Amino acid sequence: MAKFTPMIEQYLSVKEEAKDAFLFFRLGDFYEMFFDDAILAAKELEITLTGRAGGADEKIPMCGVPYHSAENYIQRLIEKGYKVAICEQVEDPAAAKGVVRREIVRVVTPGTVMEGKAVAEKSNNYMVAVTEVDHVMAIAACDLSTGELHVTSAPSNQEWLRDEINIYSPSEMIGDEQLLAWIKEQSGPLGKPVVYSPRAKAQDEVGRKQFGEAAWIRLEPERRACVAMLVAYLGETQKRSLGQLSRISAYEPEQYMILDPFTRRNLELVETVRDRSKKGSLLHLLDRTETSMGARLLRRWVDKPLLSRSQVEVRLEAVEELYGAFMLREDLKEKLKGIYDLERLVGRIAFGTANGRDLNALKLSLLQIPELKELCSGSASATLGRIASGMDDCGDLASLIEEAIADDPPVSVRDGGLIRPGFNAKLDELREASTNGKRWIADLEAAERQATGIKSLKVGYNKVFGYYIEITKSNLTSLPEGRYERKQTLANAERFVTPELKEREALILEAEDRMLDLEYGLFSEVRDQLSANIPRLQRLAEAVAEIDVLRSLAAVSAESGFVRPVLTDGYDFVVENGRHPVVETVMEGSSFIANGTNLKRDASILLITGPNMAGKSTYMRQVALISIMAQIGCFVPAGRAEIPMVDRIFTRIGAADDLIGGQSTFMVEMADIQVMTEKATPRSLIIIDELGRGTSTTEGIAIAQAVIEYVHDVIGCKALVSTHFHELAHLESGLSKLRNYSMAVQESGDKVHFLRKLVPGAASTSYGIYCAKLAGLPAAITDRASSLLGDLEKVSVLAVSGEAVKAAVPEQALSTAAPDAAGQADSGRSGIRLPGAGGSEVRYSAQET
Ligand code: ADP
Repeated sequence: MAKFTPMIEQYLSVKEEAKDAFLFFRLGDFYEMFFDDAILAAKELEITLTGRAGGADEKIPMCGVPYHSAENYIQRLIEKGYKVAICEQVEDPAAAKGVVRREIVRVVTPGTVMEGKAVAEKSNNYMVAVTEVDHVMAIAACDLSTGELHVTSAPSNQEWLRDEINIYSPSEMIGDEQLLAWIKEQSGPLGKPVVYSPRAKAQDEVGRKQFGEAAWIRLEPERRACVAMLVAYLGETQKRSLGQLSRISAYEPEQYMILDPFTRRNLELVETVRDRSKKGSLLHLLDRTETSMGARLLRRWVDKPLLSRSQVEVRLEAVEELYGAFMLREDLKEKLKGIYDLERLVGRIAFGTANGRDLNALKLSLLQIPELKELCSGSASATLGRIASGMDDCGDLASLIEEAIADDPPVSVRDGGLIRPGFNAKLDELREASTNGKRWIADLEAAERQATGIKSLKVGYNKVFGYYIEITKSNLTSLPEGRYERKQTLANAERFVTPELKEREALILEAEDRMLDLEYGLFSEVRDQLSANIPRLQRLAEAVAEIDVLRSLAAVSAESGFVRPVLTDGYDFVVENGRHPVVETVMEGSSFIANGTNLKRDASILLITGPNMAGKSTYMRQVALISIMAQIGCFVPAGRAEIPMVDRIFTRIGAADDLIGGQSTFMVEMADIQVMTEKATPRSLIIIDELGRGTSTTEGIAIAQAVIEYVHDVIGCKALVSTHFHELAHLESGLSKLRNYSMAVQESGDKVHFLRKLVPGAASTSYGIYCAKLAGLPAAITDRASSLLGDLEKVSVLAVSGEAVKAAVPEQALSTAAPDAAGQADSGRSGIRLPGAGGSEVRYSAQET
């Protein structure tokens, strides 16, 4: 084996500790990488790969980045899903014998970054640990930058674990190898790169130390195992105190509505299906928060709608109060605007990376609190009053910062200028000495100009020579011999010193040196004092976030004309004039057509037929969203809403891109239905769009019917099912709780207009052939299709009473319905003719069962 130089040997031994990370090895002003690390980093970072003689025959591949711009390179590697271990010199090179000692001081990983894009203001960056102990699975999620730590557990159940992981959308996961391997296979719905770091079980001690005995023993053993693993990993990688992790928020899965990843995605709760952007999601609609912690808490509320009616009522009470109090909302907004990201500031304080500006941001935020508190306690809301009364405004901490920290401190904490004059007598004295010294030097310059008569004489300073007197060559003749000591010769000037100048210099430099040390020391003391108050600050941040979210929900509700839902522990779901909250915002004017929903014990399944583009899936999503919004504690888009607490929403809404892992749409659908049959309870809400597609028609119909019967007879929950198969409409006669509905369509002349109105009775046609005509298929094909259809039609088509349909569709819906070019077609099939708007004939095609 080749023998390396001692430095490379040192590198190799440090690298042993960080095999799965890039090792940034500090050499002077650079972080260098060697061997394979260097080759890969050069490619990923697009930096030059060089070589270095290291004792072996061949040069060792090497590349490096300057230490002062390293942050940027580290971020780039982290974003690509790598880890970076930072290895520093840990002794003074001047004092070192042989190679300077070096150690890894921190491992930056995607789940533990404290700066940069990953910790975007309004979102969390979670690191997740998963464990399985004695058939109990636990998950702990931590955002190191905000100090949040959530933990929960449940009897081993893979879907449950998948759902929980999905909510945190972690950037890094730890757990034992097997569990991680399984999760990796399931990571489809996560959709973003995740770094997996297998870990063995950690000692209980780790957690006990971090959170204290009392809090620790309150946790169940399997949750402790999980949190301990997480904290141990953070300790290993961060190698410093993690004061921001002061509290564990444990929750029970039963506290929240269950939403699987597909449902969350299909309903576009936090991002859109198409481009995964927040814009266009429910979260985006509801987000009028002013603070970053408010934005993050809102996301948590949207992720986890509550199951306890009383808890939701507490939120609704505040929303209602704020809904009617425009001025209060505005005043709160003003105060909230002035509050910085307390959680992340606290994170940096604990981490030891907060600078003077951070402390001032904290101070300015704290100064908003007394009035914020007053606004809340002065409101009529019991919820806001309770939050306000529990609020500690941390005024002492604001005063401490005000006294200690200068108004406009520099970014660096090592270069002085941080501490306010008057805070520390010694510092003031040193500053005075430095200023005096500098004044003496300025005076010297003036005096020497006078004495020598050389007007261009000047006193300058550089790091190597210190203070000097500079005289240009042309003036040297005017200088009396022996007046100064010669120090340095430049091309066109000479530099001199005098014993007094050197004496003063020593005083100034010493004062400045001590000043910098003292300032940094004082600053660290202040930071430590704040550090000791982290739990107080975190509780305050939480209260601020809650006020912010409640205000946000009230603002959207008021501006969008939502109503307070009446929550019940009963079964019935009754909504009058419900709207899709997001779709209605993208429609001009008030062109969105409201539709009611009546799901009752004796009418719990709606089977919805209607052509493509009629509005079926919008309607079904609207029902789910209203249910979720209500359980978040928000008002809902409806004229009136009576809403039961729903324990789980299960949706199967087709999207073109749900082909994952090479499975067919049909297989995915069947797998989902399997989960549904296992998990749904009578309190659940099931939504299935186009049940049974993806296989042959007869088989599709058969399966759809069997599934509907199962939901009807066995599960007994509320369900909305849309289908292409009009043949299924006959189920209404056999299943007492099933009702046929369709999206009304207006035909005038040879055009079809979608009315977007839900009416009783099944639709008779899907207008597929007419869509084909519109698309320009040759008449030979469409005519042939029509005739084949006639032959195939087994179920007789009869008309329902025209009066019944007319009664179900308000006149206004008929006249305001927006025609939809893409879906215009001619029915040409049997139906009822009603006098329609604008003198045209309106025909409702409906099919009796
Ligand atoms: P389907 O599921 O029947 O194919 P969609 O629900 O996708 O139809 O609706 C098609 C389009 O119709 C939507 O993109 C939306 O723009 C519009 N739409 C749906 N429901 C309504 C409504 N209630 N009011 C107005 N426009 C609607």
